[in-house]
Amino acid sequence: MTETIALVTGANKGIGREISRQLASQGIHVLMGARDLERGEKAAAELRAQGLPVQFIQIDVTSQANVDRAAADMERMHGRLDILVNNAGIAVDWFPGSELTVETLRETFETNVIGVFRVTKAFLPLLRKSNHGRIVNMSSGLGSLTRQANPNGGLAVGNMLLAYSASKAALNMMTVQFANELRSAGIKVNSACPGYTATDMNQHQGKRTVEQGAATPVRLALLPDDGLTGGVFSDDGPEPW
Ligand code: NAP
Repeated sequence: MTETIALVTGANKGIGREISRQLASQGIHVLMGARDLERGEKAAAELRAQGLPVQFIQIDVTSQANVDRAAADMERMHGRLDILVNNAGIAVDWFPGSELTVETLRETFETNVIGVFRVTKAFLPLLRKSNHGRIVNMSSGLGSLTRQANPNGGLAVGNMLLAYSASKAALNMMTVQFANELRSAGIKVNSACPGYTATDMNQHQGKRTVEQGAATPVRLALLPDDGLTGGVFSDDGPEPW
């Protein structure tokens, strides 16, 4: 077991693409997951052109058949997985919660919560075959109940994104539960907050660069065996749930 194998979902652009670039720059073989074949192939080809060890893998996190096939492909190609970064996510409710529809709430949870669960469950048998399994869930300060409950909590986005925020709070609970269950297996599970980062998700209104946004998830993906598990972290260290 010499080469470290990572899978990053939603890796064709934004923070996911940059996480892939930073991991691959450290010699890690990165499978860049993307739901769209053309966008995924293009992103992987661009990084490969820089000499980085990346490979495209088609994954739509909302499709069970698709995720199962990707896990079977991974098993056949590599036989195990060392790092899973659950990065794919959507934020579509840029309006007050009273205007949110059940359909949009469901759509958001389907990607940000159920999608992460689906991918984690499908790839867990392969992570268990690693000696140093790591799972990083891309969360957000907006998923913090502590910060949301504090009117001076310093959140960059005002009174909106109920669906998105609730999905990240639910994701954080998944982090805690899986961290507890997988502790004895040596698999570390943490949530990462990238900070308000300029990407398509926020029409590039974020104040941080993707290089900055990717730093914490990359650090958590590369935690040593005595590193922490079951926490939520930003560049500043542990964040409140
Ligand atoms: P982004 O540029 O919009 O990228 C999102 C990625 O997720 C894209 O690759 C997108 O693919 C993919 N995706 C969406 N639905 C998918 C699905 N069903 N299956 C597979 N991939 C899917 O957003 P970003 O800012 O980089 O966000 C990355 C992560 O960081 C998200 O989880 C987000 O919630 C989190 N985050 C971002 C910020 C921020 O300020 N930007 C702050 C806190 C947390 P397509 O190109 O095909 O749509």
